[in-house]
Amino acid sequence: MANIGHFIGGALVSDSLREIPVYNPSTGGVDNTVATASLETVKHAIEKATNAFPAWRDTPPAKRVKVMQNFKLLLDENKDTICELIGQEHGKIGHDALGELTRGIENVEYTLGIAEKLKGEHSNNVGPDIDSWSEFAPVGVVAGITPFNFPAMVPLWMYPIAIACGNCFILKPSEKAPSAPLFIAKLLKEAGLPDGVMNVVNGDHEVVNALLTDDRIKAVSFVGSTNVAEYIYKTAADNGKRCQALGGAKNHAIVMPDADLDNAVEQLIGAAFGSSGERCMALSVAVAIGDDVADRLIDKLSTAMEGLKVGPYHDNSANFGAVISAEHRDAVVAHINSAEEQGAKILIDGRHTKVDGYENGYFVGGTLIDNVTTEMSSYQAEIFGPVLQIVRVSSMEDAMRLVNEHEYGNGTCIFTRDGEAARYFSKNIEVGMVGINIPLPVPVSYHSFGGWKRSVFGDLGAYGPDAVRFYTKRKTITQRWPSNGVREGIKFSFPS
Ligand code: NAD
Repeated sequence: MANIGHFIGGALVSDSLREIPVYNPSTGGVDNTVATASLETVKHAIEKATNAFPAWRDTPPAKRVKVMQNFKLLLDENKDTICELIGQEHGKIGHDALGELTRGIENVEYTLGIAEKLKGEHSNNVGPDIDSWSEFAPVGVVAGITPFNFPAMVPLWMYPIAIACGNCFILKPSEKAPSAPLFIAKLLKEAGLPDGVMNVVNGDHEVVNALLTDDRIKAVSFVGSTNVAEYIYKTAADNGKRCQALGGAKNHAIVMPDADLDNAVEQLIGAAFGSSGERCMALSVAVAIGDDVADRLIDKLSTAMEGLKVGPYHDNSANFGAVISAEHRDAVVAHINSAEEQGAKILIDGRHTKVDGYENGYFVGGTLIDNVTTEMSSYQAEIFGPVLQIVRVSSMEDAMRLVNEHEYGNGTCIFTRDGEAARYFSKNIEVGMVGINIPLPVPVSYHSFGGWKRSVFGDLGAYGPDAVRFYTKRKTITQRWPSNGVREGIKFSFPS
């Protein structure tokens, strides 16, 4: 059993205030522990990053891109190792881990054009003999705090762009899945990144608080649950930092009477149960317009769900794996219990699912619940498990009201063949990422990712163009070179 340490200034550091067990959700065993960094270790990482910043800031973007090119190749070469690490600690199946890593690598590919994105803006002749331009400078040392459910992809949303923009970075990955982010960060050294530009400190909230309160950290990117996101955003702001904090979700799929139901069912099954529902974009509520649609949908879902296979992470024939911990499995089961107690109907019950040979794994089977209403706690909360709830409404307006009144606003989707309805939906729905016959409308790397309402705190989304703005600060220079030495003389009115 290893104690997973930190990566600071280009070297592995093994300081450990406490050791936190890291579980293998497929077996329920503890394979490793992860070190919690002491305050001195966090300060050491910040110092290394601060010292590395001036030289990295002054490194031409084209040279930074060379490092990212090498990094991308190393990620490709090490895919199998990374997916294995993800599976061991997260429990997701190999094919799903590869999907996550591929989306992460696309964010590295986006940085290969960073010189173009940092070009700035220029205006000639804004006044007599006056030119003006804006430059985009890196903000300094940036911290990233990430969740367990995408151990590779979510960190890759953050630091490739931050580093390509000339910043130094300190990552605090989830203590539940620390190995893949640590392994990947070390590849940056191999790719030629100078020591201190990228650092990883492990631990839990104490490490986060040390990062949030240190003046040398200029910006914080956070992805995780909503209550923590809100705390991070407020604390970072109180400490004078720029912050983007992405939180939890409850994503509804609206199923219209004219939808291609067979397609909707296929899409719903993947988006509700893939990764055991542990995705912030998981579709966890299907809103059926009319009882006829609801009945037909349930009929087809029930048939399709008979074939669902749950298994350990290395069984590529399984559809999804275990949930992250025994505690989380119990929380998912408690949500299903509460739905039942509050009057919903459990149509397919995954509460007692066991996988042969993995009796101690944290498995919950695919669960389908009908007659869910908005008063039920299982409807209001983010369950983050393989549970699909059906809500019956009588009109599209009622369905949209449900979505708009929910506290979260991350993703949503409508299944329809009616272009007018789809357009009306996308225009009027209060959600940040909208799919039309697309169940997981996760933007590609050259757009940006972000929800609305309590799914996000802060103004700018993750990755893509928003991230370039988040990780840089604008400086606008206005200059005059008077022709023939002509001077304007003293002026007391505001320049116009
Ligand atoms: P979490 O909030 O428990 O943990 C996220 C990070 O915050 C971890 O690094 C953890 O160590 C740290 N943390 C936890 N409690 C803290 C505290 N009190 N003070 C300071 N730091 C703290 O989230 P999780 O369980 O790891 O991840 C699942 C959640 O993340 C879900 O709610 C999911 O929707 C959300 N998520 C959101 C997005 C998005 O883009 N909106 C993406 C992925 C996951």
